[in-house]
Amino acid sequence: MADIAVAMDTLLRLQQEYAACRRCPALYNSRTQVVFGSGNQQAEVLFIGEGPGAEEDKQGIPFCGASGKVLQELLASINLTRDDVFITNTVLCRPENNRNPAQEEVENCRERLDQLIQILKPKVIVTIGNFATERILGRKGITNLRGKVFPLTINSQEVKVVPVIHPANLLYNGRNPEILQQMRDDFQVIAVVLAEAQKQTSLGRF
Ligand code: URA
Repeated sequence: MADIAVAMDTLLRLQQEYAACRRCPALYNSRTQVVFGSGNQQAEVLFIGEGPGAEEDKQGIPFCGASGKVLQELLASINLTRDDVFITNTVLCRPENNRNPAQEEVENCRERLDQLIQILKPKVIVTIGNFATERILGRKGITNLRGKVFPLTINSQEVKVVPVIHPANLLYNGRNPEILQQMRDDFQVIAVVLAEAQKQTSLGRF
């Protein structure tokens, strides 16, 4: 219980530290607010997107717009809600006109994401789309990487990484049923990996 309280306090301090971040001049100028992340601070699954969009920038909550509706649908398909997981982004501030985050901006947000992972200690990390996948795995090409499981050691902690297609891709393609099916399949992989991690924990092996 004490550990949980310490983690919550550390998370709050990290959030406060970044609330007025000025590391990226362009993002500092274009954002309404820093969108730190939201969800269950004891979650076993951490979702990492690309960066806040217009609605996220307005509300201060990641994936609260159109992409977020798709994400919630997919979470529901494996009996999860956004309150069961923690959601953040590769960069915390909205790039103007939804441009891609620059490499330097991803780097400026590196330490913050590393610290978040260290605090939350997720068993499963779901990287949503190319930017998050490259940031965590150092590999490009979501089409080939999606739905596969990559064991990784982060901060001396074993974690399983599952890259998935970004919901924006589905929306951009008019909710193409083939893409939707791929996304549903990938979420089934998340469910299996999570169940496996929970089993290992109960056996004291994770
Ligand atoms: N797209 C993202 O990558 N992140 C969000 O928070 C919203 C849309």
